[in-house]
Amino acid sequence: MRCHRLEFPTSWGTLRLIGGSRAGEGTLLMLPQFRLAIEAGRAQRKLPAMSTLFISHGHADHLLAVAYWASQRALSRLGRGRILAPQAIASDLENLLECHAGMEGEAPYDVQVTALSPQSEFQLKPGIRLEFFEVSHRVPTLGCRILWSKKQLRPELSGADEAEIRRQKEAGIEITTRVEQAILSYSADTGVRVFENPEHLAAEILLLECSFWGENDRERARRYAHLHLEDILENIHLISARHLVLFHASRRNRLHEVRKLIDTRLRPATDAEIHDVMVEWE
Ligand SMILES: [Zn+2]
Ligand SMILES: [Zn+2]
Repeated sequence: MRCHRLEFPTSWGTLRLIGGSRAGEGTLLMLPQFRLAIEAGRAQRKLPAMSTLFISHGHADHLLAVAYWASQRALSRLGRGRILAPQAIASDLENLLECHAGMEGEAPYDVQVTALSPQSEFQLKPGIRLEFFEVSHRVPTLGCRILWSKKQLRPELSGADEAEIRRQKEAGIEITTRVEQAILSYSADTGVRVFENPEHLAAEILLLECSFWGENDRERARRYAHLHLEDILENIHLISARHLVLFHASRRNRLHEVRKLIDTRLRPATDAEIHDVMVEWE
């Protein structure tokens, strides 16, 4: 099954996202403009070109393709790769890569694993950084936000006329200031505590997991620390994102059923544009 290819207008510019997701079978989300993959749960041809991987937690459907990524990068001499992962799994990932490189009879892969805490941040490229936040899953899990640092007119000049702004500029007064805009936020696998994080919910693009959709699966969602459609509906008023992108549907529902529920239940409940990156992996 092919990945979805989506384009989002944001204040930074058009952001391209290539990805696919299904609970238990693999989640892979790539942002080629930043050479960043969020999760590596599935091998895909474009994955080795991503120089940074963010792995949110240790479940296999989020990291099964890490060895493929490292091995293909070594083969194509793509240079050093970097994995950003929660502290709890960072050394296990190093061991896993060492083990794979050994089986391939190769020198260790040129991969740097950075152990993250919720306070960590990472400069992805000039003006673009990653920030991390804790979510409530069955194992230690981090979500991430992509922040763009942009120049903006100083707030006290927002009502001023053009002549005054020009006068200040000519007098050598700084008329702009830097502000950060969250262009994307990724929930990872999470329970309902994610709705207590207003910064996450206000990013321009909100990638939100929704594993369970069936009427009888609410308890199951709680037990496995995942979101259910009803959790999102109950908290939809808290979401101010412009684009809501759903991922991680479980195999308990066919995708045509999921999309019907998106159309009949979610779309009428929000002004956000709703997309999904769910696929039937084969
Ligand atoms: Zn998962
Ligand atoms: Zn998980």
